[in-house]
Amino acid sequence: MAIDAATRRQILDGVDRLARERIAPRAAEIDATDRFPEDLYRAAGELGLFGLWIPEEYGGIGPDLVTPLLVSERIAQASASFALSFSNCGDAVTPIVHAATERVKRQWLPGIARGEFIPAFSLTEPQSGSDAASIKSTARRDGDHYVINARKMWCTNGSVAHVYTVFAKTDPEAGHRGVSAFVVPRDAEGIRVGRDEPIIGLRGSPTTELAFEDVRVPLDARLGDEGQGFKIAMITLDEARLNCSAMALGTATAALELAVAYAKERVQFAKPIIQHQGLEFLLARLAAELSAARALWEKAIVMLETSRSPETGVHCAMSKLMATETAMRVTTECVQAMGANGLSRNNPLERMMRDCKPFQVFDGTTQIQQLLIGRYLQKNGVPRTGGPFG
Ligand SMILES: Cc1cc2nc3c(=O)[nH]c(=O)nc-3n(C[C@H](O)[C@H](O)[C@H](O)COP(=O)(O)OP(=O)(O)OC[C@H]3O[C@@H](n4cnc5c(N)ncnc54)[C@H](O)[C@@H]3O)c2cc1C
Repeated sequence: MAIDAATRRQILDGVDRLARERIAPRAAEIDATDRFPEDLYRAAGELGLFGLWIPEEYGGIGPDLVTPLLVSERIAQASASFALSFSNCGDAVTPIVHAATERVKRQWLPGIARGEFIPAFSLTEPQSGSDAASIKSTARRDGDHYVINARKMWCTNGSVAHVYTVFAKTDPEAGHRGVSAFVVPRDAEGIRVGRDEPIIGLRGSPTTELAFEDVRVPLDARLGDEGQGFKIAMITLDEARLNCSAMALGTATAALELAVAYAKERVQFAKPIIQHQGLEFLLARLAAELSAARALWEKAIVMLETSRSPETGVHCAMSKLMATETAMRVTTECVQAMGANGLSRNNPLERMMRDCKPFQVFDGTTQIQQLLIGRYLQKNGVPRTGGPFG
C-alpha cells in the first residue's frame, strides 16, 4: 500500500520535529558515547515510523517504498547514526514481510511496527563479505527443527535486537542456491551476542559479532523454501542501496549548509571567505554535485516504484555509488572550508565526514557497485531510460 501525499506530508512534518527537537541535540553525545539511543528508537516507534514497512493487517501502515527513504534522508541531516538505526529495520523486516509464515508474521511484525522489537539482518561472516554466497554457516534439518551453527559479523543493531534474520546454508555444496534464511529470536538457546565493533563513523549504531551454536528453530521459522535465502537477501538490496543513498545525501546536505553558513561569516583578507573565488567555486561545485546525486536518487526511486527490472537495479547501484562518493567528497571539502575549526571535535562536520565513510562499504562497496554497473554495460549497453522523458 503506497501512502497518499497528505499522510506522507504529515509523517514528514512529525519526523522534522523529532529530528530538530530530539535527535539533533543528541547527535554529538551519541557519537561520543557510541551508545544506541533506545529512547529515540521508542520515540520513532510512537510516531509509527517502523510501521512504514509493514502491512496494516500486522499493525503497520505500509508497506511503502518512498516515505521511509525520505524519513532516512531527513533523520540523517540530524544524525547519520540514528538514521541507520532507524532504516536498518527496513532491511531486516522486509524479508519477514515477504517470506515468513503466518505464525512468524503474527509473532513479530506488530511489535516491530510499534518499535518494541528491534529486528536485525545477519548475512556477513568473518570470511564472507562482498562474496555473500561463500558463507560458511549451516542449518541442518533435525526432525521438526533446524540446527543452526553460524559466526556472523558486522550485524547492525545486533546487540540491541530482539530477533535476527539469519542466512545459513542448508546445502553447503550448492553455492548461492544452498542458502536459506531463518527468523531466530535473540533468546533462543545457543546464541552468543559478541562485542560491538568500534568503528570510525556511525557510532551509536551497533555493529555486532554474533555466534550461533546448535541453535534450534522450528521448521516454520524458515523464510520461503530451502535454497531461497539468497533471493530473499536480494529482495531488500535495491531498496537498501537507495536507503544508503538517502543517508549519504542527508548527511552531505547538512554538512554543506554548515560550511556555507561559516563561509559567509568568516572573514579573511578583509572579506567573507565565500567571496574568495577559490572557495566560492569549490562550494558551488559541491552544491551542483550534490544536486546531481540527488536527481539520480530520485530517478532510481521512481523506477523502483514501478518495476524491479535489471535497468532499475543498475540505477540503484549507480545511485548508491554517486551518493556515497559525493557525500564523502562534500563532507571532506566542507571540513577543508572551515580550516582548523572544521577539524575540531566540537564541530559536527568532522563527525559527518567520519559518518560518510561506512556508507561506501555496506550494502555493497563502491567497487561492488562498479562491478554491477560494469556487468550491466557488457550485457545491455548504456542505461538510458527511466527519466521523466522516457
Ligand atoms: C557500518 C556497517 C554496517 C553493516 N551492517 C551489516 C548488517 O546489518 N548485516 C550484514 O550482514 N552485514 C553488515 N555489514 C557488512 C557489510 O555488508 C560488509 O562489510 C560489506 O559487504 C563488505 O564486505 P567486507 O567488509 O568483508 O569487505 P570485503 O568483501 O573483504 O572487501 C574488501 C575490499 O575488496 C574489495 N573487493 C571485494 N571483492 C571485489 C571484487 N570482486 N572486485 C573489486 N573489488 C572487490 C571491496 O570493495 C573492498 O574494498 C555492515 C558493515 C558496516 C561497515
